[in-house]
Amino acid sequence: MNDCLFCRIVAGDIPATVVRETDTTLAFRDINPKAEVHVLVVTKEHYVDVATLAQADRELAGELLETVAVVAETEGLLADGFRTIFNTGEYGGQEVDHVHAHVLGGEPLGPMVCK
Ligand code: AMP
Ligand code: ZN
Repeated sequence: MNDCLFCRIVAGDIPATVVRETDTTLAFRDINPKAEVHVLVVTKEHYVDVATLAQADRELAGELLETVAVVAETEGLLADGFRTIFNTGEYGGQEVDHVHAHVLGGEPLGPMVCK
């Protein structure tokens, strides 16, 4: 998947500010943060979206969520709360077709959806 942006970040071809790495997942700061804290958590293996991942490999899906939790803890988000978003497909506004959780926090985040 040489043309996939997040696969290239996982491979180290494109720099990113990594906040946590496990055998199967990588967490790095979003280049265009939408909140005080905005971290993306990806699987190192390429899956298009969270639905595809969850149906293909539930253990890996759990590892992705575990990294979300550890990042929330290390970023100091557990006390006040945080938001995890998996944008999926066209209506979900997904721009990068490699499964990623947005971990947002550090300030009140406002309404869940703006219409
Ligand atoms: P989504 O719209 O859910 O697919 O989110 C893609 C996210 O990737 C956006 O929040 C972008 O700001 C972020 N992004 C794009 N390029 C990079 C990059 N090189 N490093 C870190 N984050 C990026
Ligand atoms: Zn990829």
